[in-house]
Amino acid sequence: MSTRNTRRGFSLVELLAVVLILAVLAAVAVPLYLNTQANASLRTCKANIAAIAAAETAKALRGGAYVALDALVGASEGLAEAPVCPSGGAYTATVAGTGACTIHCSTVAHAALDKVLAAPTPEEL
Ligand SMILES: [Zn+2]
Repeated sequence: MSTRNTRRGFSLVELLAVVLILAVLAAVAVPLYLNTQANASLRTCKANIAAIAAAETAKALRGGAYVALDALVGASEGLAEAPVCPSGGAYTATVAGTGACTIHCSTVAHAALDKVLAAPTPEEL
């Protein structure tokens, strides 16, 4: 008589162990994924704002003053196309009465990325 175990499939305890392991892995991986996604969005937005700032600076050095964002977009301007925030925000470049320029993303989580450019001085022009 053979004592070999001929049982097929998995027991309930084995299945529960697998489900538990998958749940623990998901509990660790999902927050990491979401955090990485948010960081990537933030960094892309920061790079977009830096590109807008560079285009504004170049425009101010050529023309003497900062301009609205629309005036920076075009083949002969600083930006080939309008930057798009990966979080869906819209960029604005606001020129204050003092000549300073503030570049802003409308995404609430990106408010800390606002960049203020000082008014160009006569020496820079
Ligand atoms: Zn943004």
